Amino acid sequence: MSENNGDGSELIEFYASEALTCPRRIYFRLKGYPERWPEFVKVRLNQGINTHNVLGEILKRRFGFELEKHLVLRSNKLGLEIHGRIDAVRDFPIEIKGKTSLPRTPYDYHLAQLNVYMRWAEAEYGYLYYIRLHEEPMKVINKIDFSNFPVVKGPNFRAFEVPYDKALFKETLRHFYQVKRAYEKERAPRGWRSFSCKFCPYRYLCFPDDE
Ligand code: SF4
Repeated sequence: MSENNGDGSELIEFYASEALTCPRRIYFRLKGYPERWPEFVKVRLNQGINTHNVLGEILKRRFGFELEKHLVLRSNKLGLEIHGRIDAVRDFPIEIKGKTSLPRTPYDYHLAQLNVYMRWAEAEYGYLYYIRLHEEPMKVINKIDFSNFPVVKGPNFRAFEVPYDKALFKETLRHFYQVKRAYEKERAPRGWRSFSCKFCPYRYLCFPDDE
C-alpha cells in the first residue's frame, strides 16, 4: 500500500481507477478497512470480467493490442504513485467499461482514469468503450462493427475518442494529494454521498444505520 520515498517519508500508492472518485472511499482503502461488496455488484463485476476478456481477446488478436498492461507513475515531489492496469494498449490506450446502461457522455472519473493511461503511454488520444453487460457477452460483441476501428459502433455499445488533457491530469494529482494529506492526518475526508454509494464496498462505514 505504501513504501519509502527515499527521504524517509511515505510514498502512497493510488490506483488509476480511483482518479477523481470519492476521496473518502480511497481513504478507507488506504486505511485497510475490509471491503464489503453488495451482492448485485458482485454479479456485475463478474459479468464485467467476462466482457473484458472477450472484447480484449479481439483487440489482441485482430489489432495487436497488449492486454492488462501494468503501469506506475511516480511523483517523488508529491510522495505518491499511481498504479494502473490498462485494459488494452498499443500506441494508444483503450479502457473498457461494462455498464447496465450506456451513458450519453463519458463519466468524469472514467475520463480521468483514461487520461492517466494516456499520460503514461504518451498518447494524444485514447478511447473509452462502454458496453452493455450481458450474461453472454458474445451476443453483444458479435454485433459490433469494427470497420472504422478504433471508433467502433454497435447496438449496446458506445465508443468515445478522447484527447489527452494536461489540466485534468494536474487535477487528478491534486485530488490524490489531498487524500494523501487526509491519510497522514488520519482524518477521513468528506464523501460524495451520491448514487455511487450504492456500489461502494465501504457503504457500511458511511451508513452504519442501513446495515
Ligand atoms: S459510501 Fe459513498 S460517501 Fe461513503 S466512501 Fe463510499 S462512495 Fe464515499
